[in-house]
Amino acid sequence: MKAVVIREHGGLDTLHLDEMPSPVPGPGEALVRVRAVALNNLDIWARSGPPGGRPIFPWGGMRLPMITGADVAGVIEQVGPDVQSAMVGRRVVVNPILSCGTCEFCLSGEQSMCAEYRIFGEHTAGGMADYTVVPERNFYALPNHVRFEHAAAVPACYTTAWRMLVSVAKLRAGEDLLVVGASGGVGSAALVIGRFAGARVFAVVGDDGKAAKAASLGAIPINRNEHPRFSERVRALTGSGVHVVVDPVGASTWPESIRSLRPGGRMTICGASGGERPDIDIREIYQRHRQILGAPMGNVTDFLTVMELVVRGALMPVIHAVLPLGEIREAHRMFEAREHFGKIVLVP
Ligand SMILES: [Zn+2]
Repeated sequence: MKAVVIREHGGLDTLHLDEMPSPVPGPGEALVRVRAVALNNLDIWARSGPPGGRPIFPWGGMRLPMITGADVAGVIEQVGPDVQSAMVGRRVVVNPILSCGTCEFCLSGEQSMCAEYRIFGEHTAGGMADYTVVPERNFYALPNHVRFEHAAAVPACYTTAWRMLVSVAKLRAGEDLLVVGASGGVGSAALVIGRFAGARVFAVVGDDGKAAKAASLGAIPINRNEHPRFSERVRALTGSGVHVVVDPVGASTWPESIRSLRPGGRMTICGASGGERPDIDIREIYQRHRQILGAPMGNVTDFLTVMELVVRGALMPVIHAVLPLGEIREAHRMFEAREHFGKIVLVP
């Protein structure tokens, strides 16, 4: 099979399609013919090395060589021993959450709180290939009317955004929501989920083209170049600030994100690609009754909820581009240059 094998950290020229033996499913696993796989920060960091050279996860860095790709949709081609052969031929999307299944957190349905929590395609070989092997319990059946490209855009980012907005920040209809980094994977997911939940959504974006795109999705854009202190713009538009902020960026946007919150507002966070150590006076948080809520990835219920909404047509993932897997360099380039608004999906 063809696969993008990352063998060393480096530039775009380290990316190419290699010829590899197809993996063989073991007990409790099945082989999936990949029909679409979406790009995430994890794929970029596996190639470039993690930001600042520090491990992204508490359990350490990715081990090279590896095939990345956490967001996979495809067709089951072959099953391992003890897996029902009736599964062959089924259209599926992969739930990327891996956990022990037996600890107190897993038993209470909070798989992403498990000490053994890992992500498919980060800890295991993923879907940037013709075929990938997936544990049987990580499949979600995909009806015929859902396109593989749409399904692959959903798992990591929409599960995380649902977790942040609905499960953790408890966003309610009629509230004001600010999405920082609204053109990114989690940001664009938060924008459409915020609209779906009935919030008025303000979207911080980096240029006019992205502002137009955010507006077309029902958000009120705030161009960061025109309003580097975007909290002032938020206050001008809302009076006292927003009820909820989604900030997937980190230190570079935290101070303005926190200042955009009305007293008692909630900020929910999932990442630190923009730095880990914000320069903020903590009195700006507690004196105004503001809350900061961590939500890295969601649990299986969050995943099932967003998939169900996509299957029903209630949520439509935002897709920037669909490219052949052979154009993996262009996909990484586009992602790193921040040209995209929404997900970049590759098709083997
Ligand atoms: Zn567990």
